[in-house]
Amino acid sequence: MTGLLLDPPDRFDLETEVAIVGAGGCGLTAALAAREAGAEVWLFERDRVPRGSTAMSSGMVPAAGTRFQRARGIDDDPERFAADILAKNGGATDLAIVRTLARRAAPTVEWLVDRFAVPLDLVEAFLYPGHSRPRMHAPPGRSGAELVGALERAVEETGASLLCEARVDALIVERSAAGSVARVRGLRVERRDGRFETVAAGAVVLACCGYGGAPDLVRRFVPEMAEAPYHGHAGNQGDAVRWGQALGAGLADLGAYQGHAGLAVPHEVLITWAIVVEGGVQVDATGRRFADETRGYSEQAALLRAGPGGVGWILYDEARHRLALAFEDYRRALEAGAISVAPDPAGLAAVTGLPADTLVATLEEVRELARTGGTDRFGRDFSKVAPLEPPFRAVKVTGALFHTQGGLVVDPVARVLRSDGSPIPGLFAGGGAARGVSGPGAAGYLSGNGLLSAIVLGRIAGESAATEARGTSPGCGA
Ligand SMILES: Cc1cc2nc3c(=O)[nH]c(=O)nc-3n(C[C@H](O)[C@H](O)[C@H](O)COP(=O)(O)OP(=O)(O)OC[C@H]3O[C@@H](n4cnc5c(N)ncnc54)[C@H](O)[C@@H]3O)c2cc1C
Repeated sequence: MTGLLLDPPDRFDLETEVAIVGAGGCGLTAALAAREAGAEVWLFERDRVPRGSTAMSSGMVPAAGTRFQRARGIDDDPERFAADILAKNGGATDLAIVRTLARRAAPTVEWLVDRFAVPLDLVEAFLYPGHSRPRMHAPPGRSGAELVGALERAVEETGASLLCEARVDALIVERSAAGSVARVRGLRVERRDGRFETVAAGAVVLACCGYGGAPDLVRRFVPEMAEAPYHGHAGNQGDAVRWGQALGAGLADLGAYQGHAGLAVPHEVLITWAIVVEGGVQVDATGRRFADETRGYSEQAALLRAGPGGVGWILYDEARHRLALAFEDYRRALEAGAISVAPDPAGLAAVTGLPADTLVATLEEVRELARTGGTDRFGRDFSKVAPLEPPFRAVKVTGALFHTQGGLVVDPVARVLRSDGSPIPGLFAGGGAARGVSGPGAAGYLSGNGLLSAIVLGRIAGESAATEARGTSPGCGA
């Protein structure tokens, strides 16, 4: 049971300057930053090896104004990036956090590459919906597992201590004379053998992500996806939110989430939305399109789930198939037999089982739209994509919940705030544990918002935690 231990014990089993809960993208990056600031760091991870949702992701970290963009002649800057985030969420978020993350993303990507040899490079081949410039930076295999592997190696080299099979079950807090929470003093961890150990910490960073793996919280906060498959990390069970509630912390945007309308069924492998952005389309189980797919894969997920059977197909061709082959997940889907191919629309109907008349009409319509550069009845503009050409491909998909975006309210230096806006001393959060920058629902999720918060806010949380624990002054905020 996740909870609070009111009143510190007389003796702790371990003492450290910075304790980090969770070793996904946020926790590992926070550890690098805290070590760089000179702090002693312990990371506690409930799994046998660190992976988290970060390892399930495509490892795409958005950043504007990097030297990787400049080398390709791409003119981008944090203001433009912040404007794209705000256009997607309708401005319904914390402006100061958006500006901070947009400003610190480029130096953070370069810091990871230059200082810790994390292999991130610009992804130029396509633009994700809502981004006005190519600004995703990813490992060569477009795989979050590569990202986590590189971060974990770097953390080991810095001398931070990583303890796995160590589930943090409680935060230890000190109370004021009036009985309210005065500061967080540490945590309690359950080891593999069932023993509990107490850890004193100068500062605690919550990097244990959101509540996608907690059906009770999903039903309560994200009811539209309660029956959808959860394709994020199972161990993310809402501990940060539960602690936040017990501490009187501010919580916001709890209905926000990243959905995805491209989870291959029954294989449960992510099909990159690049296929769709570059001219593919999505149909429901009747063979009809039902939305402008390019608005975003996140909001498309609930629309797909609401259609007949909650499943559909992504239709595309050989050129988009070749583009998708750059993604490790897509190659896995291909190997697993998830991708169908046929020489013509009627053949595609035969291999997919979709009604032939409807499928032929749908494909003819979208090919004509691309040929003439038209806009369809949903408002999708086909003027910048080449028509789909035979042979055609199709993959059966459903809409899934990838991760939740609501969480603890933090300030721009990642301090967790009480509901009255004052910081809770000793407590910091980033990544999926903190409120994201996607507004209140699914439609505000701009691709990359997840790792933006994990990596960039994670770095900030690590710096701030080290500063508080060591009583030093804040860094330069590169
Ligand atoms: C399939 C998929 C694809 C995605 N693709 C992208 C993408 O390309 N770009 C992007 O920006 N975002 C993407 N996202 C979202 C992104 O992966 C997440 O937003 C991000 O990984 C969150 O990072 P995190 O460190 O907060 O959480 P995680 O990486 O999930 O790490 C949290 C860690 O905390 C541990 N933990 C939880 N509770 C405890 C506890 N009590 N004690 C100890 N440990 C605990 C967990 O085991 C886990 O290892 C994707 C998500 C999915 C699921």
